[in-house]
Amino acid sequence: MYKISKEHMKALRDSIIKWQNIINGTAFDNGAGNCTLCIYNTKITGNISTACAVCVIYMDTHQGGCKGTPYTLWYNHRLYDYFANVTGMCPECIKLAQAELDYLVDLESRCEEI
Ligand SMILES: [Zn+2]
Repeated sequence: MYKISKEHMKALRDSIIKWQNIINGTAFDNGAGNCTLCIYNTKITGNISTACAVCVIYMDTHQGGCKGTPYTLWYNHRLYDYFANVTGMCPECIKLAQAELDYLVDLESRCEEI
């Protein structure tokens, strides 16, 4: 179990809500710009460039930039097929967003608040 602060857990749960909303079509992914974990960890370290190092996802993958999670597939699909436009969704987007959501829900189950 990863032991994380109550605020860190809230950021993780809010990120889960973000991905649920992306799948529902009521939100879009704007990368670190609307990632509650990025925002929380940037507040902790004072710098976005060091935020990954204290993120629970980094604890899990030992990689920055959400590498080692389904986000990489999502990111590449959005970059190459949508030219990084934030809006618009296709069936492949839904599938990849669901994979990221499933990853985050599983990660949450392996975390406890301290
Ligand atoms: Zn797509």
